[in-house]
Amino acid sequence: MRFVKCLLIATGLMGWGIPSLIASDAPPRYWKLTILHTNDTHGNLLPFNYPDPPDPNTQEAQLALRRNIGGIARRATLVRQLQKGFGTTWLVDTGDFHDGTAFSIEYGGEADVAAMNAVGYTIATHGNHEFNNPRARWQKLIEMARFPVVCANVVDANTKEPLMKPYEILPVEGARIAVFGGHGKHPGLPCHARGHRDSGRHRYGASTGSAASSASRHRDFAFASGV
Ligand SMILES: [Zn+2]
Repeated sequence: MRFVKCLLIATGLMGWGIPSLIASDAPPRYWKLTILHTNDTHGNLLPFNYPDPPDPNTQEAQLALRRNIGGIARRATLVRQLQKGFGTTWLVDTGDFHDGTAFSIEYGGEADVAAMNAVGYTIATHGNHEFNNPRARWQKLIEMARFPVVCANVVDANTKEPLMKPYEILPVEGARIAVFGGHGKHPGLPCHARGHRDSGRHRYGASTGSAASSASRHRDFAFASGV
């Protein structure tokens, strides 16, 4: 769903990169970093048509049909081309990378994570649709991923501890940047897309805290670590 986004990963990235430059007495250094960003790919590993079929009740019905677009092979090719021309490049996904095609649902997201591993994602956070899987399934996907999956403000409903690593520290030409993941606050976050808006918290055992306050809290930890 497009109205729940996880864009704080990029906000955290930029906001924390700047202090890391000025925290020292040394003259500021400048470096170039290119961030390639994907979101809401929804299991579209194969080329697809869009909208297909258009939902007459949404703005999709106003769009011209585009045939044979997207797919992981095209994405990988584009990433390779861009990486050649932009120096240090991160490939970031901000969620909803699975759940939307029969392929993705049948394999419970494993095909999507395997494809992202092959393309070489740098880091990711999750969207609301990742929680359509049972919690154990989602945790298996995180373990499969050869890139960190971060989010600070989706916590265990009982312990209040984050379900996954809140942030990751990534190097860029000698600098260290804390990349923070956050989720838009949503009371029925887990599994809301399948009509369980009110039961997600209990079914999944998780809840969403404030992305801003979580970012602030974990930023302090990161600064204490010398980022
Ligand atoms: Zn989505």
